[in-house]
Amino acid sequence: MILIFLGPPGSGKGTQSSFLSKHHGFNHLSTGDLLRIESTKTTKIGLLLASMMGSGALVSDEIVNKLIANYVIEARHSNFIIDGYPRTISQAHYLQNYLDSNYFVFHFDIDIIKLKERIQNRFSCTHCGKIYNKITQPLTINGVCDVCGSSEFSWRKDDNAEALLKRVEVYNQEINAILDFYQERQKLTKINADLTSEEVSSQIENIISIRNIEV
Ligand code: AMP
Repeated sequence: MILIFLGPPGSGKGTQSSFLSKHHGFNHLSTGDLLRIESTKTTKIGLLLASMMGSGALVSDEIVNKLIANYVIEARHSNFIIDGYPRTISQAHYLQNYLDSNYFVFHFDIDIIKLKERIQNRFSCTHCGKIYNKITQPLTINGVCDVCGSSEFSWRKDDNAEALLKRVEVYNQEINAILDFYQERQKLTKINADLTSEEVSSQIENIISIRNIEV
């Protein structure tokens, strides 16, 4: 079974994916993470990706679709979260070729002010990837990762005000058509992503049990 997480950057998709992986055994596929790995390579495509992603623009459908296809074929046989895809209506149509009826779409709905606050205070552990927020999800011990004890942390290059505005603008241009697409197929559930991560997790767990999603 596949869960598709839709939502703007900073709406908590990554955090909730980690929660569901840890507590319910989901595999987590994030196109952003896959593309970030590719973008660190000094190949022609790596350099192109780095410059597009740094500015907050979307990577072309062709590149992302190619990247995702093999993963989705595998994903159909297990419990999987797709986070950050589809981001355009054309990606939604492409993905449909690989889905059977066993999928659900969660829309992380969040207020724009909250979003900016979250993104600009977001950082993660370089070692294990645990995501923190200086205000809403700080480290328990200053300078030490709660999960793995590492003291190395990273900030995403595109988590700055300019790139964020661009990413939200791009998101707003594309999202309504994608939401309509899944609404028509009765696959869409809205999540109130303004709440704390614990509250959002319980919303998701409730929906999973109400909709009888097997985990
Ligand atoms: P994310 O980590 O999901 O915020 O993604 C970071 C960046 O990766 C985005 O700003 C885009 O440049 C790129 N990206 C991730 N997913 C997609 C996608 N489905 N389509 C196009 N670009 C994407």
